[in-house]
Amino acid sequence: MKKYLKTLTSVLPGTVLCMLLGGCGAEKPEKYMSVDTAMGTVVQQNIYASDRETAEKLSGGITGILEQLEQQTISWRLESSELFAVNESAGNAEGFLLSEELTKLLEKCLEVSEQSGGAFDVTLLPVVQLWDIDAWAAAENTAGYVLPEAELLQQKLDLCGSSKIKLAPESHGDNVEIFQARCFLPRGMQLDLGAVGKGVALEKIADYLERNQVSGAVVSVGGSVLTYGEKPDRTSWKVGIVNPRDTSSNLGVLSLEGQWFVSTSGDYERYVEVNGVRYHHIIDPATGMPANAGVCGVTVLTRDGFLSDALSTACFILGAEKGMALAEQYDAEVLFVTLEGDMILSEGMKQYFQK
Ligand code: AMP
Ligand code: MG
Repeated sequence: MKKYLKTLTSVLPGTVLCMLLGGCGAEKPEKYMSVDTAMGTVVQQNIYASDRETAEKLSGGITGILEQLEQQTISWRLESSELFAVNESAGNAEGFLLSEELTKLLEKCLEVSEQSGGAFDVTLLPVVQLWDIDAWAAAENTAGYVLPEAELLQQKLDLCGSSKIKLAPESHGDNVEIFQARCFLPRGMQLDLGAVGKGVALEKIADYLERNQVSGAVVSVGGSVLTYGEKPDRTSWKVGIVNPRDTSSNLGVLSLEGQWFVSTSGDYERYVEVNGVRYHHIIDPATGMPANAGVCGVTVLTRDGFLSDALSTACFILGAEKGMALAEQYDAEVLFVTLEGDMILSEGMKQYFQK
């Protein structure tokens, strides 16, 4: 049976949409694949659909969800987003009335922050900006990179701390359906939802796939993956665990059935090297320095997109022992890759992982 890939460049600007034609019957959904960028990262979609037109529509819908979430809600870079306005309000006595969506999201972030003993912290933006992590993400030439000065780093770190955020529930009279809070940030505090945005996006995408009665799909946004539904041949989804020291290869795969969220945080995603030392993008709030807890990759498997993303970041900072305890608290499965290249898996993860 001959298979071939066909490139369709007219589908979405900047998108390569390929149709994988197999020998399956006409009534069976076929796999359509597209690769694009959104939310500052690579987005790959594998959608099973009855025909190309349907796949293109779904693909465009998914891209739209990512763009909307970033532009309207969670980007700290774009003036159009709600988070940008929240950050602008820092130090204002009247605070900022959050939308219901951002109220719930921020509440969940604060909970993970507390449960992780402060390791997970969405207030680190001043430190993230001092490290200039965005420039590494854009893969600019980092050869002349100068490390932040210790004193300046401490000044920025003093502005951070999730426990300093105040969320005051806003009353809507008798309407208890609406849940909003007013957010008060101290002067200088700035929020960054980069550690959870991909997981939140994938939750929305799962809902969208359901609404549109898609039979099966796998969507990845950066290091976060959603598996949804099933393949026509009912075989399981395979999600690769990237080798942090050779990102072109996998250490193994997770075999999954149905809907799962898999998020990976790694020191290979964004980093600079100075004098042979790697400085990466996951910051330990205790020091303001890249986390150094003995791991170079952490993968979290859960039924909840937000949690998979939040916990992979938190577990990276906490390291294997404390991270394992945190994941257990949330009934999440976790896989750590240590700096020595060993893998440490939670008991439950072992049933999904194959080398
Ligand atoms: P992820 O790739 O999901 O682990 O998220 C990493 C991103 O989250 C970084 O690029 C920062 O924008 C942000 N970040 C860095 N350190 C932390 C932290 N300790 N807690 C929460 N977010 C962080
Ligand atoms: Mg994360």
